[in-house]
This record gives sequence, structure tokens and C-alpha cells, in this order.
Amino acid sequence: MKTKYRFLCLFLLCALAGTGCGSRAAGYTATDIAMGTVVNQTVYTRKESVTEDVEAIIDALEQDTLSWRIAGSEIAQINEAAGTGAVEVPQELNEDLIILMDVAEKSGGAFDFTIGPVVRLWKIDEWASGKKEAENIADGEELAEAVIPAKEEIELALAATGYEKVSMENGSISLPPQCSLDLGAVGKGIACDRIAAYLEKEEVQGAVISVGGSILTYGSKPDGSAWQVGIVDPQDTAGLIGTLSLTGQWFISTSGDYERYVEVEGRRYHHILDPANGYPAESGVHSVTILCKSGILSDALSTACFVLGVEEGMKLAQNYGAEALFIDEQGEIFMTEGMKGIFKETGRD
Ligand code: AMP
Ligand code: MG
Repeated sequence: MKTKYRFLCLFLLCALAGTGCGSRAAGYTATDIAMGTVVNQTVYTRKESVTEDVEAIIDALEQDTLSWRIAGSEIAQINEAAGTGAVEVPQELNEDLIILMDVAEKSGGAFDFTIGPVVRLWKIDEWASGKKEAENIADGEELAEAVIPAKEEIELALAATGYEKVSMENGSISLPPQCSLDLGAVGKGIACDRIAAYLEKEEVQGAVISVGGSILTYGSKPDGSAWQVGIVDPQDTAGLIGTLSLTGQWFISTSGDYERYVEVEGRRYHHILDPANGYPAESGVHSVTILCKSGILSDALSTACFVLGVEEGMKLAQNYGAEALFIDEQGEIFMTEGMKGIFKETGRD
């Protein structure tokens, strides 16, 4: 009886300390540029810091797997083989491509991983505002001037695209001539998936890591409080429209028309294209935030839901059991039921 009582006291003390019975986890923070975007990390661990390993994971994912620009990457090899028949896909990438094909189908092509030629035509990465932050370009330094492509050029580029032209079977993929894969919409979410697996392997206690618009919360804080994830106010991007309060492992991705855009003659041209016409999507939405248990899914859904708009996007998110928060062009907020219990608007108790 006495021994049992002692164990109970010890357990209670440990639980109150919120740190388990070992030494308290130390906190590490790091901010870097990877995958062309800003990576912020806060990690709590009783072992050595893993922040450098996390950066290396993102770099390797981009260089060895995702980049269509880097000859020899897994995606570049698939694109290289377009028109030559089926090629085998490494298992991890194949699992990701199966998820992406499913989102492409269920979103009716609003998410389309073959949209690359149209994205490149718009040269969004050369002129868009977000480039400055991501690549440390000094204020005052000029970006390339935006040139809006001609309708005929867009139609030509669009003709080579279409997820339904891709065939995937038994771990192999085949693309018709001129067709290519571009995972620009989901690279950051995939990075969060890979990072979560690594944190688990390294027995990290807790972390919140953002890779551009995709965020991973993992484990717990030493003080036991919830992770607070800010949602940018799309009408005033220096501020937050609210926060998500989360415990444990979650993936959050936001797609917004304020991330990469240029304004020409009063019209905003942003980086999320409607595959139906090849122009920046005009769905009445400023931003979409998706919360779910998978990084790749949250990232694919945020892009798809942006293109679909509030009504159709809401249905798609619910179809996947994901929570969604839309902010429309008037600044009105629309949320799934589950999101309502997680989101707190700035200035409201
Ligand atoms: P995100 O910010 O996650 O919504 O991703 C946007 C990026 O995905 C763009 O910069 C393009 O590279 C690519 N993209 C744009 N529109 C689409 C689309 N409809 N489907 C798939 N990828 C897209
Ligand atoms: Mg996305």
C-alpha cells in the first residue's frame, strides 16, 4: 500500500511538472530559407537540437525528389520520360502521387499537378512580391516587370496539361508527350510530413515548424499549454486575423492571394491558377486554411479549395474529414464546424 502511494505521488509530481520524469526538455529556435521560402522552427527536446537536420531534410526533399528544375531529381526523371511509356516511381513519392491524383479527381481538376507549363508561362516566381522575403532581396531592389501572357499563349500551354492524361498503375507512371508534373503546390506540406516522421524517430517532445504556408505542430510544450498558430489577415498581411489553438500533431496549410502577386492596372494577378482557364483563380476567396492529419493533403486541399471557392471548397474539405477556414474578398470568415472550436478571432474572447 505504502509503495503504491509513493509511486502515485511521484507520478503526480511528474505530471504536474508536465515534463515526464527525465530532465526538462530544452527549447531551440531557428529561422532559415529553404525550398524558396522561410522556415521557422521551435523545437523542444531532451536530446541535441534537430533544427539543422530538419533543414537538411527539406533541402534533400527538394533536390532529390521534388524539383522539376534539378536534372536527376525523381520528378525530373518522370518528366524526362514523358511520351516514352511507363516509368517506375520510388515508393514514398508514389504514395504521395496517389493522394494527389485523388485530390485532382475529387476536386474536378481544381487541383492539378500538371499545371506547371501554365505556371511557368506566368513567370510568377520572377515578379511576385513574396519572392523578396523568400530570397532575401533587399528593399528597393527591383524584381522583373510583370508581363501578362497573351490568351493564345495560355491556351497553348493549357493544352499540354490535364491530370486525367496521367496514368498511374502498380507503382509506375506514364505521361504523354509535353506533359509534366509540378508539385509546387504541395512541396511544403510534403516537407512537413517528412519532418514529423523524423521528429518521432528522434523522440522530440514538441515542435512547431512552418515551411512557408504549411505548418506542423508536433507533441507538446514543456509547460503543457496548447500550440498557437496564427492566421494571417489577408487584408492586412502584417497582422493576424486570429489563431488556432492546437494540441498534438496537426498539419495546417494556407493558400492566399497575398502570398505571391502583382497588381497591373488595378487587377491582382496571383500565383494560384484556375486550371479551367489558365488565369489566376477568381473564386471570391482571399485565403483558405486547411487543418488535417496529413501535410500533403492539407497543402493540396488549400490550393484546391482556393480555386473552388467557399461553397464547393467546403464540401471538398469535408469529404476528406479536414477542417477549413475561408476568408472571402469582403473579409468574411467561413468555417467548418470543427474549426469553430479551434479558431479564435483576434480581439474576441
Ligand atoms: P499554394 O500556395 O500551396 O496554394 O501553391 C501554389 C503553387 O502551386 C503555385 O505557385 C504554383 O506553382 C502551383 N499551382 C498554382 N495553381 C495550381 C493548381 N490549380 N493546382 C496545382 N498547383 C497549382
Ligand atoms: Mg497548397
